[in-house]
Amino acid sequence: MSTIAENISFIKNKIETVANGRKITLLAVTKTFSADCAKQAIDTGILDIAESKIQEAVPKFEALSNSLKGINKHFIGHLQSNKAKKAVLNFDLIQSLDSIDLAKDINRHAKDINKVQKCLIELKVSSEETKYGASKEKVNEIYNYCISNCPNILICGIMTIAPYFEDKELVRPYFKLAFSVFENIKKIKNDSNFNILSMGMSDDFEIAIQEGSNMVRVGTAIFGERNYDK
Ligand SMILES: *Cc1c(COP(=O)(O)O)cnc(C)c1O
Repeated sequence: MSTIAENISFIKNKIETVANGRKITLLAVTKTFSADCAKQAIDTGILDIAESKIQEAVPKFEALSNSLKGINKHFIGHLQSNKAKKAVLNFDLIQSLDSIDLAKDINRHAKDINKVQKCLIELKVSSEETKYGASKEKVNEIYNYCISNCPNILICGIMTIAPYFEDKELVRPYFKLAFSVFENIKKIKNDSNFNILSMGMSDDFEIAIQEGSNMVRVGTAIFGERNYDK
């Protein structure tokens, strides 16, 4: 079995091959894995880690304490309003903003602690496969709402989760769609803060990068299969 360090180096090489000189941020998705695994990833030079559950992330971050200096913490799971406060307290980038109501909550909690909370709006690209995220129209509404009403939120781009296919090429149109929604806002709004397109996971990050992703979220290919029972 290969080590976490070997896996990361392998993935970084793959990213470089398809990126064509563009800068791609590699997020290590540490959900279900121990603080020690996260530490091993950080020790290889990983600067971004991602978690999808607040209750799992908070004790892990505490255990990691000093190792997290200079590390960006990303929240990538579905965020319920009652967890918004803890998300704001603990994460640098919330990638799953998918409603105006949630924006109101995030903005309020960020204001309370004098923070400008960076967020990505989660775009839902397929009707069946993914449960959460906003439609293309909704993404624009959330963006416009935040720009006008949420001084304590900074919208930095879009995140999407593509459906899974046995035949990897079938995912490409979903990434193309997300890229077009991203580019459309970027061009029309001429917003220099809006520059992250977070798409691509273990199975499809190379295709995602070819289609314009500049942030990939990789768990399994770094840490191995997840065991949700533990
Ligand atoms: C778990 C998760 C990932 C990582 O998936 P892998 O297939 O293990 O790389 C990426 N993004 C989100 C939103 C996730 O929940």
